[in-house]
Amino acid sequence: MDYLNFDLPSLGVAELVALLEHHNRAYWENGEPEIPDARYDEIVEALRQRDPGNPLLEKIFTPSVASGGKVRHVEPMLSLDKAYSLEAVLAWAHKFSRSEDEEMLVQPKYDGISAKYDGKVLVTRGDGFFGEDVTDKIPLIELEAPGYIGKLDRPARGEVIIRDDDFASIYRNVRKKDGQLYKNSRNAVAGIMGLKEIAEMQLQKAKLTLVDYTLISYRVKLSELPTRWEELKLALAQLPYPQDGIVVKFADAAFAASLGRTAHHPRGEIAYKFTNIRKETVLRDVEWSFGKNCLTPVACLDPVEISGTTIKRATLHNVQNILDLGVMIGDTVVVERAGDVIPYIVESRPGCERRTALIENCPCCKTLLIRRGPELVCPNPECMETRLQRLLGAVRNLGIERLGEPTLRKLMAKFDVRHLGDLFELSAKQLLQIEGFAEKSASSLVAEIQKARRIEDYRLLAALNVPNVGPNIAKLLLAKYSFAELRTATAETLAAIDGIGPERANAVVAELAAQSDYLDELLTAVTLVASSQTENSPTICFTGKMPEKRSYYEKLAATLGYRSVDDATSTLTLLVADDPNGNSTKLRNARKFGVRIVSLDEFLAEAGIPAQADAPAQGELF
Ligand SMILES: [Zn+2]
Repeated sequence: MDYLNFDLPSLGVAELVALLEHHNRAYWENGEPEIPDARYDEIVEALRQRDPGNPLLEKIFTPSVASGGKVRHVEPMLSLDKAYSLEAVLAWAHKFSRSEDEEMLVQPKYDGISAKYDGKVLVTRGDGFFGEDVTDKIPLIELEAPGYIGKLDRPARGEVIIRDDDFASIYRNVRKKDGQLYKNSRNAVAGIMGLKEIAEMQLQKAKLTLVDYTLISYRVKLSELPTRWEELKLALAQLPYPQDGIVVKFADAAFAASLGRTAHHPRGEIAYKFTNIRKETVLRDVEWSFGKNCLTPVACLDPVEISGTTIKRATLHNVQNILDLGVMIGDTVVVERAGDVIPYIVESRPGCERRTALIENCPCCKTLLIRRGPELVCPNPECMETRLQRLLGAVRNLGIERLGEPTLRKLMAKFDVRHLGDLFELSAKQLLQIEGFAEKSASSLVAEIQKARRIEDYRLLAALNVPNVGPNIAKLLLAKYSFAELRTATAETLAAIDGIGPERANAVVAELAAQSDYLDELLTAVTLVASSQTENSPTICFTGKMPEKRSYYEKLAATLGYRSVDDATSTLTLLVADDPNGNSTKLRNARKFGVRIVSLDEFLAEAGIPAQADAPAQGELF
């Protein structure tokens, strides 16, 4: 069946169940929802109407996590009753409160995975009765509790989330197995908590946070709740945590407990849920923003407020989506904002005066645009905006942090910077001619650019803007072939590598061929560092007494592309000796086999490290 385009009223119970199971898997196991939350809720609602007792409804909001195994909760960890308006919250409170002075607690409703740590085992809420053992995720988790931020080393009960600031910084570099970034923090939490193996996440410095439920809590009298509601909402909204609602509970815990619970939730607290509201507005214009490989349509809308935020722009994803929606400028559109996802257009209705939202020519260079899959592409290699975005992508992949889009734009205009090679030629003096640069900032940027001349091969490959080839995929390719080998490899051989596939393989081969001249030029400006040492790598061996530990020199050698070995044999490429005129076995063998011998200082000079003639010899003898 079609899991994306369906007509709910026409579906039977079995089909609805199949739909939900599919989208549950997409969300919880793949961490990649295929439909908006609101659409998902509609399916749930349809099933509830058609078959209220369906067991799937009970399980809907309980993530199943695929590691560790199930753990039975001593006391059920229940979810909360829900309200969608302040009126509903007040009605609930008045039903149970003892007076208008009843003290209430107002807390964020975190949008993550509810979990409990008893000091030994970390368990998710699961279905409330059985949770999943996720103790193996603790190395990734930082605890935030009253008066404490640090390792999860004490009992806590709260929600595993990714802080908004972490998501904006750390998760710009954390990639899933398929090389893609996580679309939002909620997907990332679900995805990471479901992993069987976290080594790759640790390597990428992925970080989760367990926020203790008692950390953020506002105390307010029931009588004041209506007047303070907006202010509290605003205060909560400014916290760096993803939230999907507000928890209101009685401050007197003993009283709250005395109210007991229903089968599903405690009576002493309630969750006010933010709804993923859709609103109607008018599409006034469509702007096309440049990306590395395509143009993305952005809807300019009459301002409309959705759950506290004024929306003026929404994404239209790509040209195919515009065609599918049949939307034109002047139409009435329904815009949806769900959680921290960028607002998007759900549907449209023809307006009185309409004009096409499509464009034929590049807004920058006026070249006739072409279609590539669902995307619109400017085929002109000289197109200024396309070049800017590609160069910006390359700069990011090289890890040059100080160089942002505005500066790059100015550099391109003023000094005709066209590609990475030109960037390496820039001087601090030139930078000083750019507005906003002073002596210090200019020289630090130049230093950072120069540092990038020494570049790991996978970063360079990622910097070539091959579609769907980021740093992780580049690493995969370069684990198998050297950069030079890659340039002559066929799509067939590359496609055979685990995790690459024919589409990427074709793209790599095509792009390497298309950029061949540019690459030749670029390779004269940079020093490539092999990210993996294969059997064919040159070998290196150290002998004598040296100031630092052997592992230090071996690491250094690895950055130069050498594989370290223990003995001086006929296949050895380079022997580094504290005293090249010495008489150790390694030195004698090396001379016999005609192996190149250098002093430590020469080797360090090659590695770009100044000689340390005065350093005391206190390291290992090897
Ligand atoms: Zn163009």
